[in-house]
Amino acid sequence: MTVANRPPTSGSTGPGKGPAKELTVLVPVFNEEDNIGFLYERLINTLDAYGKSFELLFIEDGSVDRSFEKLAALHRADARVRVVRFARNFGQQMAISAGLQYGRGEVIVLIDADLQAPPEEIPRLVDKLAEGYDIVYGVRKGRIDSLLRRVGSWGMSHLLYRITGIDIPDSASGFTALDRRFVENINLYSDKSKYFSGLFAWLSYGRWATVDIRHAARHSGESKYTIAKLVSLTLNFVCNFTVMPLRFSLFVGAVLAGASLATAAGWAFAGALGMAPFHALGFLALAIVFLAGIQLAAMGVLGEYIGRIYREVREQPLFVVREQLDHPED
Ligand code: UDP
Ligand code: MG
Repeated sequence: MTVANRPPTSGSTGPGKGPAKELTVLVPVFNEEDNIGFLYERLINTLDAYGKSFELLFIEDGSVDRSFEKLAALHRADARVRVVRFARNFGQQMAISAGLQYGRGEVIVLIDADLQAPPEEIPRLVDKLAEGYDIVYGVRKGRIDSLLRRVGSWGMSHLLYRITGIDIPDSASGFTALDRRFVENINLYSDKSKYFSGLFAWLSYGRWATVDIRHAARHSGESKYTIAKLVSLTLNFVCNFTVMPLRFSLFVGAVLAGASLATAAGWAFAGALGMAPFHALGFLALAIVFLAGIQLAAMGVLGEYIGRIYREVREQPLFVVREQLDHPED
């Protein structure tokens, strides 16, 4: 079992070994058994016609269906297929993280396994990248996803803009082409809670481009994103890039404490002058509940950051690899 935590040095027998290809197509896979065959066919047809040397790198993220068996069969039949199998489900961000370390291409194209983004568009992304960008995003036209997801993405894009000052249309499309040097710089970031869309946008400042793509419904199966996973991703994004929530809770806490003090003083004054009936207990109860809520919220914000510090100091690996299918000639 290999434990991968830091970016590998190239030329070692670890993730980065073997001759470089012009292209790596990186696919995170979690329970996609019914999509793998179709994806493979469409990728091969497209890339063979494109004519650049390539590898297909599948990061199998602890699937409980037959995804790994299908990938292993592809690997046996086709020397261009590489598979890295995780010991359990570590999530899409960790799968991307692994792929960026294991991929050997001069360009890495990131694409989902569910065929929502058309593999036939890969050459357009790669050609655009060759004009000298760090990253090219496939922007979804006529996005086919639930209303909740579309509203959520809209919110994330605005947040991204507020935090990074970069207004990338549809940065969360997940269909991107990345330049090798840019990937190596991305690999320098070793933080445990990843949010690659944010990091890509932040680091590619001014050196990104977009290509419009058609978006399709999932070929098979359901979205692997539960509400809980989406919330956790949003928190990664916000907390990785800013301490704004901490400041915000400090500000709200200060305003509320000041306001409640002033109100209490006002009431005491009015009561002393006999100008108003004095429901001290009722107001006190209300104030206590209110302030307790604020305090809990502020502690929650602190907890988010402290939790992140805890994760960093424990120095746990980002992911654990159970098996790696490479070819001996590599
Ligand atoms: N995925 C993964 N690990 C996970 C969840 C998803 O590797 O824990 C992969 C999944 O197999 C797919 C990609 O990440 O290739 C995007 O997932 P999905 O299509 O469910 O996301 P959505 O399109 O709903 O954003
Ligand atoms: Mg999808």
